[in-house]
Amino acid sequence: MQAQRPEHEVTDVWEPVPPVVTPVVGTAPPSDAIILFDGNSLNNWTDSNGNSPQWEIKDGVMTVKPGTGDIRTKQGFGDVQLHIEWRTPDVIKGEGQGRGNSGVFLMDRYEVQVLDSYENPTYPNGQAASIYKQHIPLVNACRPPGEWQTYDIIFMAPRFNAEGRVTHPARITVIHNGVLVQNNVELWGDTRFIGLPRYIEHSMNEPLRLQDHGDLVSFRNIWIREL
Ligand code: MG
Repeated sequence: MQAQRPEHEVTDVWEPVPPVVTPVVGTAPPSDAIILFDGNSLNNWTDSNGNSPQWEIKDGVMTVKPGTGDIRTKQGFGDVQLHIEWRTPDVIKGEGQGRGNSGVFLMDRYEVQVLDSYENPTYPNGQAASIYKQHIPLVNACRPPGEWQTYDIIFMAPRFNAEGRVTHPARITVIHNGVLVQNNVELWGDTRFIGLPRYIEHSMNEPLRLQDHGDLVSFRNIWIREL
């Protein structure tokens, strides 16, 4: 005869057991992260022609080389957690969208804006940590120019049906310098400078892209976890 389980145990779920990972200490990547940039090489990246990027690496930091174009990871990704650190130039040049502009493009087409938005007005749906031309960040958590800033991003890729129509739009959460700025918002489509966003079917794995917008924006410590 089986002993009766206590009532409170009926709702205990024992499977699956989450795998153990070493959590983040400071800005170091957790043990199961894919390191996309460790400060030494751009081996995991290509330029728009499939060649080795010409962006500069110095002192563990990569910096946009204006005019050489965007760079993309060789590997494609879908649902991810992404950590990336960025810095706009300490010498202020330009204003609005022309000041420290770059961008983190999930799946090559959904942009989290990188901009020096420290006392630098622009249209809010284009300021730092906006989902460019879609979602205004909840707050402006920008540090002054020349200081390192972090994005921790949780991105859920869109799903498409057999006809290529979106069934589940992409969703994104962004934490900027430890502050929640995008709370699981739904994307309306891909990022467009002109016109309204819309979805065009794509694969479940697309590269991460960083933007050359002509400004000397730097990056370091980029890692990603597939979800
Ligand atoms: Mg940009």
